[in-house]
Amino acid sequence: SAAAGKVKAQKYVLTKYFQGEPKKSDFKIVEEELPELKEGEVLAETEYISVDPYMMIYMNSRKLPTDMIGGQVAKIISSRNQKYPVGKYVSGYFGWRTHAILNPDARITQPGFVPVTVVPDLGTHSVSLSLGVLGMPGNTAYFGIREIIKPKPGQTIVISGAGGDVGSHVGQIGKIVGCHVVGFAGNDEKCEYLEKELGFDRAFNYKTVDIRAALRDSCPKKVDCYFDNVGGEISATIMDHMNKYGRVGVCGTISSYSEETLPKVTIMQPVIVSKELTVEGFNVNRWTDRWNEGILKNLNWLNEGKLKYHEKVYHGFDNMVDAFVGMLRGDNIGKAVVKVK
Ligand code: NDP
Repeated sequence: SAAAGKVKAQKYVLTKYFQGEPKKSDFKIVEEELPELKEGEVLAETEYISVDPYMMIYMNSRKLPTDMIGGQVAKIISSRNQKYPVGKYVSGYFGWRTHAILNPDARITQPGFVPVTVVPDLGTHSVSLSLGVLGMPGNTAYFGIREIIKPKPGQTIVISGAGGDVGSHVGQIGKIVGCHVVGFAGNDEKCEYLEKELGFDRAFNYKTVDIRAALRDSCPKKVDCYFDNVGGEISATIMDHMNKYGRVGVCGTISSYSEETLPKVTIMQPVIVSKELTVEGFNVNRWTDRWNEGILKNLNWLNEGKLKYHEKVYHGFDNMVDAFVGMLRGDNIGKAVVKVK
């Protein structure tokens, strides 16, 4: 049926400014009755919503109240667009909501973000992978390696935030390229997973080791490429252990996403000068026009068994905030997602 009328959607609205991490009571779940579909539109029912670090930056920079932003994968349950029939899965930035009316032909749903994409045939893989290894984080790893840090076989790559979705993926591509790969992550379980399951040469718990000693021990030929997900002091220490003409890809600075943890950092410019480092920040949306190249490359590696993933799945729309806060605290190995339906 083409009628979307009477469908009630639920959505999260952030209503309070918070310190540190958000609480459930900082949000309201609001119900809204959706209008009838117009020509070209589809009604999509959410299956999985992603929780990602960038949401913290979003929440801290908004005038409230504001609808929550977020990537999700949804099934079309009603359609007035022949190219997008009922039953197809789409992904995009539809927000923390249970249903959305979309016009997939309109290129932009959220300025600066990748538009609505149809989930390609993933075979037996879960559609939730469109939010992780076969979605935005997977493409961050793929393009970040290929276009920014450009490692050569035999070189040494160090990754901070290595136990998360982007970091664990970067390390595996590093191994595919033929590099020596070292990661830093927030607990021993993640480090064991990175070494035993994903083939990292070494992984260290940054909360318990001496970073400088760990680098001396694990990177005897020093560091050629640094994939930075964290920023702050750990990055200063790693950059100090780099080779001349090393390359730093600044992907994220999660150590500074909350005002309370804003780090005071050692000045890095002297080491950038003396080692003649290339330091480049990037946003994965730079490659919107090559989006499917990354997805399909990662899918191939997955099917060839060269790429593995791990998901922490939270259940229920009511648990969005728990999932988000859990991700910030490091509870997830790999990707954190919420199964809504
Ligand atoms: P993750 O799955 O890695 O989740 C975030 C992890 O960061 C936490 O689980 C935690 O793991 C770690 N963390 C949290 N706070 C701190 C802290 N103060 N210091 C060090 N580590 C901390 O997330 P993603 O893989 O999705 O993203 C990783 C990074 O990549 C983020 O910085 C994100 O913003 C960035 N990103 C950038 C993109 C771009 O286009 N530039 C696109 C996508 C992601 P633990 O402490 O246990 O290691």
